[in-house]
Amino acid sequence: MRSIWTLNPYRGCEFGCKYCYARYAHEFMELRDPELFERKIYAKRFDAASFRAEVRRLKRGDTIWVGTATDPYQPAERRFQNTRRILEVLARESGLDLGITTKSDLVSRDAELLSRVARRNLVRVHLTITTLDEPLARMLEPRAPRPELRLNAVRKLTQSGVAVSVLAHPVMPLINDSEQSLDAVCAAAVKNGATAFSAAPLFLKPCAQQVFFPFLAERFPHLLGRYRERFEKNAYLKGQYPEIIRERVEKIRARHNLARREAPEWPLDDQLELFRSAG
Ligand code: SF4
Repeated sequence: MRSIWTLNPYRGCEFGCKYCYARYAHEFMELRDPELFERKIYAKRFDAASFRAEVRRLKRGDTIWVGTATDPYQPAERRFQNTRRILEVLARESGLDLGITTKSDLVSRDAELLSRVARRNLVRVHLTITTLDEPLARMLEPRAPRPELRLNAVRKLTQSGVAVSVLAHPVMPLINDSEQSLDAVCAAAVKNGATAFSAAPLFLKPCAQQVFFPFLAERFPHLLGRYRERFEKNAYLKGQYPEIIRERVEKIRARHNLARREAPEWPLDDQLELFRSAG
């Protein structure tokens, strides 16, 4: 049976998305202020030889997902280059299935390296673009690169022969969930060479609610009551909404001649411990 391994070179994420679900990771370190997640970033120590040895123990066909909890191309990557060093090791391996999830155009720095990895492995980069509306993106994802830069990265990667999927996650009710908004993201993705598109509804665990609810109170006060009512009972939206979004995305995919492709899923507890946490 094939296994799926997850890999997060950084703990914490400077992009500071208001809906981020990964803030729980700082709670494990007794850092209970949710804002610290975006201000106190840990770069894990990387050792290429240990990493290579661990990768060689994987079965061919196993999947490695980079960036399932925090962004592997956040600003810290410019200095520490952990993600790049992972790819340098993987470029000498074969038969693996590699997925990378990011909101950063910095991923295009590694376009040539990723295309080398893709010669002997399956590679797909998942660029997250929740909206093309720049002011809205700035509100929701304050320090992430703006949507236009992410689309430029889609183009650079696909021109280098790297397969790119665009994710419009998370879909937030009455914020970025209109068919027009999702269709615009999909159309721009396709125009820049992406071959897959997906979008799934927001989920809000208590650690994310601590940031998202005050954000709504400030920016979308008319929505606060409705979000509280739905998410305080359950982190996941129930009822018709998930089905409405699923059908909406199917329709958009069909309009842009994209094959059906499920949103990526990964087991959050199968972390490939290829690093030791610093500090
Ligand atoms: S880019 Fe991802 S990990 Fe970083 S803050 Fe945004 S949602 Fe969280």
